[in-house]
Amino acid sequence: MRGLVLLGCAGIALMTWGGAAARAQKPDHHWAIVLHGGAGVIERATMSPATEAAYRASLKEAIEAGAQVLDRGGSSMDAVEASIRILEDNPLFNAGRGAVFAADGKNELDAAMMDGATLKAGAVAEVTRTRHPISLARAVMEKSQHVMLAGEGADAFAAQVGLEQVDPSFFFTERRWQSLVRELKREGLPIPPRPAGAPPAPAKPVAELEPPEAHKYGTVGVVALDRQGNIAAGTSTGGLTAKRWGRVGDSPIIGAGTYASNQSCAVSGTGTGEYFIRLTVARTVCALVQYKGMRLQEAADEVIHKELEALHGDGGVIAIAPDGQMAWSFNTPGMYRARLQEGGKLEIGIYGDEP
Ligand code: ASP
Repeated sequence: MRGLVLLGCAGIALMTWGGAAARAQKPDHHWAIVLHGGAGVIERATMSPATEAAYRASLKEAIEAGAQVLDRGGSSMDAVEASIRILEDNPLFNAGRGAVFAADGKNELDAAMMDGATLKAGAVAEVTRTRHPISLARAVMEKSQHVMLAGEGADAFAAQVGLEQVDPSFFFTERRWQSLVRELKREGLPIPPRPAGAPPAPAKPVAELEPPEAHKYGTVGVVALDRQGNIAAGTSTGGLTAKRWGRVGDSPIIGAGTYASNQSCAVSGTGTGEYFIRLTVARTVCALVQYKGMRLQEAADEVIHKELEALHGDGGVIAIAPDGQMAWSFNTPGMYRARLQEGGKLEIGIYGDEP
């Protein structure tokens, strides 16, 4: 990796990216990338040092994958997809492998991508067999005439365009299964049988890397700006634990959990999706930038701290603008997050009191 200088700092990893050679060739724009791994009640008091270290390392690995794409001149779409694929394979996050379970004991995955240069978008809901839902969302955008596919048809399309299919048990993690059992008991709902293909139930609870569960999401999202000045957004999630009746949240809904336009900004959200849908959170942040001329941080704060809070909704957003502005805003105690721009320092945060 060119120009990687480890500065280090308690709790926040600081690095400088982009060497002199890279900057000399650089056309008009410095690349930038912002990532989230979900928002919620994420607090120091309930986070073990091992768990915290695992999250920070995972955020770093994922953002560096996208940064590498951008640093060699790749597109913002490629960077978003590269980072999200890594998070989808990481069982710490509620996306792909490690997704939460619906009440019927299935992992039903949602994802969306949007290209700010063309306003083209692709989204999928309730996918159960496609290893990387984010790549499927992109395929819907690039290889079909549609914007959104759902359920078995979406998986069938994935197979048709050659995306990796897996047995649904691929997405199983013991931690998420135990969360489902707890939630169903709490709601007085029947507990479905352990999914076919899942490993046998452990004799004692899995304590290792067991993050606090209460009101914590884990959806993942990335927004990026490439050297050509184009921005893109992507979001991938398993939705909410014990969801029923084919519930779909905001993540795959363009304008709610995901939005990108070179005219304004790119946004990915995380939180209780029903509020994000009702407020069209992602598009509203961009509309404030586009029509009211707000700075990106101001627009994100306006939607999260005024509009979302007024409805008693919870969650957060990450955002990026074509001129390089980056923002994040959340009204939960924490949000897993990271950001980096060319020639800048990597910032990783988890708790609300970090910058
Ligand atoms: N927004 C997602 C949903 O409602 C959940 C999350 O952000 O973790 O499906």
